[in-house]
Amino acid sequence: MDISGRCAAEKQLIKARDYLQHLATHDELTGLPNRRSFNESLPNFIVSARRGGYKLGVVMLDLDQFKGINDTLGHDIGDELLIGVALRLTDTVKAGDFVARLAGDEFVFVIKSFHRLVELEAICEKVRRAVAEPFVLGTGTEIRASASIGLSVYPTDGTGAQEMVKCADAAMYQAKVSGAGCVKIFNQAMGRAQKQKIRLEQDLRSSVVDKKFETWYQPIYQCSSNSYSSVEVLARWRHPQRGIVHPETFIPLAEDCGVIESLGYLILEKAFKQQHQLTEAGYEQVNVSINISPQQLFAAGFVDTVKSLLERNQTVAKRIEFEVTENTLFDQHKEINSTIGRLQALGIQFAIDDFGTGYSSFSRLAKLPIRKIKIDQTFIKGIPNNKKNLAIVKALITMGKDLGICIVAEGVETQEQFDYLYAAGCDEIQGFLLAGPMPINTLVSVLSSGKRSAPAHVTRVSKQLASAHIDALKETV
Ligand code: C2E
Ligand code: CA
Ligand code: CA
Repeated sequence: MDISGRCAAEKQLIKARDYLQHLATHDELTGLPNRRSFNESLPNFIVSARRGGYKLGVVMLDLDQFKGINDTLGHDIGDELLIGVALRLTDTVKAGDFVARLAGDEFVFVIKSFHRLVELEAICEKVRRAVAEPFVLGTGTEIRASASIGLSVYPTDGTGAQEMVKCADAAMYQAKVSGAGCVKIFNQAMGRAQKQKIRLEQDLRSSVVDKKFETWYQPIYQCSSNSYSSVEVLARWRHPQRGIVHPETFIPLAEDCGVIESLGYLILEKAFKQQHQLTEAGYEQVNVSINISPQQLFAAGFVDTVKSLLERNQTVAKRIEFEVTENTLFDQHKEINSTIGRLQALGIQFAIDDFGTGYSSFSRLAKLPIRKIKIDQTFIKGIPNNKKNLAIVKALITMGKDLGICIVAEGVETQEQFDYLYAAGCDEIQGFLLAGPMPINTLVSVLSSGKRSAPAHVTRVSKQLASAHIDALKETV
């Protein structure tokens, strides 16, 4: 009997079964084992470590600002970066160890046996440096990434797989909090911080439902008119136990846990209502500037939402400005230009926020339909002692004049900074020196008490001082 046909069919079946098995346990994009495979393997690795009497390390790795890269440069580039990271991880970790992709930009690796903690730390440091090396993409573009890394050690931090993962996760969270590109080893305090984060996330979700957010306003001084020409809307969360929580804590959390669109909606609604209030109170010339997260701008239906909110609240659209970071605007998504165009057609203007912190391209800047550039606070901080910052700020002010873009200096805290910026021809100035963020009622009284012009302690620079500043500047440039 000829059984060759049957053999071939069986081989095919085995191949298909292996393939399906591979799909179920591996990540399609990077080819690494997936979460399921990690969950199944870790308990076995722990058993081997116990039997062998050695230590084992679980290391969680999460890329910093990956969402930003994905949202702004596009998913193809995001995917390419993930593949690149996967390759570097497998290259850096020893062949016998285990690397998996858990989800999105979250990777894990297991160092199956070591004796001294420094050995594990050295591996993590190597991985951190490997990820920080620039990635050259297929298109030839170079991008930089960094990873936050957290690790837990068996048997010091836990003896069960779940416990080890939780501890490594908590350490990774602390690495994130400490700033980009950090490695952290688990300790008990981190466990508490992790619990707090989870609680805060739950509170945030329910506060969005209960609308427990306020809009505060920081006046922005216009040099040419010697008055407050606009106000920036800054969100505040009135937490039932913690009191006022600042956006630096809750905006990234809201972006992370997917409530930024609903939260952004609440802020827009309030700010639009209050713009109408300002008009009614006689401050129709004051622009209201609102921070917009990339996720909000990219959300389907955003333009329609804005349109109906404008109508419903009788908001004067030409008094509304949206502040977006430069990376949002230098996006490769085709939709971004159309979204911005449609919002501009409604009358809304655009400002680039935190300018100088992203990957700006000056040639593209000229083509962008923006009215304002807000120089990031870090550049203002160094004024007047940091010569490089001085030169950059001066160059931006000159460029703004050439392109007809209004230049705003943020975070002005000292008289010296103010005088310098004023002398250099900066258009608008924002900072604690003039006024901090305040609730709407305080804002209205500040505007109405004749303090529309800069407070008395802000002295206009004398001509002499101005030219001295400019001369000093010319030398540095
Ligand atoms: P930002 O857009 O750069 O806003 C300016 C931040 O600098 C505000 O912090 C403001 O209080 C602070 N600031 C103003 N003047 C000075 C100064 O002279 N010195 C110093 N050191 N700081 C000054 P705040 O209100 O804590 O907001 C932090 C960030 O949170 C904002 O930075 C913005 O990126 C984000 N944010 C605030 N409200 C919203 C919102 O409604 N939506 C979104 N997506 N983000 C928001
Ligand atoms: Ca801003
Ligand atoms: Ca800013």
